[in-house]
Amino acid sequence: MASKISVLGSTGSIGTQTLDVARMNGFEITALTANSNIKLLEHQAREFHPKIVAVLDMGAASQLKIALSDTDIEVFCGEEGIKMAAAEQSCDTVVNAVVGVAGLLPTLEAINAGKNIALANKETLVAGGSIVMKAVKNKGLKLYPVDSEHSAIFQCLQGCPENSLKKIILTASGGSFFGKTREELRSVTVKQALTHPNWNMGAKITVDSSTMMNKGLEVIEASWLFDCDDEDIDVVIHRESVIHSMILLKDNAVIAQLGVPDMRIPIQYALTYPERLPSPAKEPDFSEIAQMTFYKPDYDTFTCLAVCREALRRGGLCPTVANAANEMAVDMFLKEKIKFLDIGDIVAEAVSSFTENKHDITIDDILQADKETRIRIKNKY
Ligand code: NDP
Ligand code: MG
Repeated sequence: MASKISVLGSTGSIGTQTLDVARMNGFEITALTANSNIKLLEHQAREFHPKIVAVLDMGAASQLKIALSDTDIEVFCGEEGIKMAAAEQSCDTVVNAVVGVAGLLPTLEAINAGKNIALANKETLVAGGSIVMKAVKNKGLKLYPVDSEHSAIFQCLQGCPENSLKKIILTASGGSFFGKTREELRSVTVKQALTHPNWNMGAKITVDSSTMMNKGLEVIEASWLFDCDDEDIDVVIHRESVIHSMILLKDNAVIAQLGVPDMRIPIQYALTYPERLPSPAKEPDFSEIAQMTFYKPDYDTFTCLAVCREALRRGGLCPTVANAANEMAVDMFLKEKIKFLDIGDIVAEAVSSFTENKHDITIDDILQADKETRIRIKNKY
């Protein structure tokens, strides 16, 4: 069980819910970080008294330094500052709740410093899974999934003998645009894409859910966490988000993990494993849920899911490229520079035109592929 935790991305959706869990369980907070939201970060720092805080934005960090000058909390800035927070000496577990591939280097920094990881930042595994998993193993550390589907699978696997797993069945809500045709998707707005039926999340992952890129990223994430291939991972649409995912065992028995859609359950399990402690999340009311429905994903309309599966099969740097293209595309969509369907086209084009794939990759290869993909897209739009 964790006791001293650093929260990277503490001002976001997962970050603030992690602090709810910490407050309830009396965890000591050793470091907190944000991109630029210093108002909330100052508030959090005054409540939890971490040893250090770090802000990516240099100007915001300078302001926070002044604001916290009456405390003994150290304030750091930039990417180096976030890495220092990730490696804070007294901490035992780092919760990575940063959004995007920006979370990769801090994850590696935390692992190198000997910290266990509670990982929400799925882009870390999508872009750098081979390196991260190797580093965790070499250091004898634990990496606990926070993503609800992966936490569900991890929970289902408890007590199952090794080699008993036949398939992973990832559930997907289907996002804001389930059932829509490509024609109907042509004109959807940012506001519509940011309305998720069941979960209240940050902007990027909400758009990823609406394109089903999120499920594609999660297929790749699952392949690293549970050491399996594309064909071992099924995706099923389950609109109610009551079943958070399932495993199919060799004897065709299925084990599922159910509950209300509240991220504080998987966050807490990642921090208290193997203990089960009281949670602020509600009990499910099955008479209210009444029914659970399941559908096949529409791979032709939601092309991102198919492209992620292709990237996983091709391996090497392909998932890094798919992720970088998506981060660029979502950013442009949120700024209303491109249309909704352009997101899928940009990701597909980036993956299909990426011909210099290689295996046995280094962190420099990953950073280079990420950078080149972004430059190529930036030059085009
Ligand atoms: P949010 O956008 O709500 O929060 C992101 C956090 O990261 C904020 O603290 C933000 O700071 C900080 N941040 C943003 N950009 C950078 C950067 N370049 N470097 C360092 N810090 C940065 O995201 P979510 O909490 O929704 O998601 C976080 C991660 O968890 C994502 O990878 C997502 O896919 C995953 N996840 C989220 C779920 C959810 O329910 N939200 C569920 C499952 C997984 P600031 O506030 O200053 O901008
Ligand atoms: Mg998820």
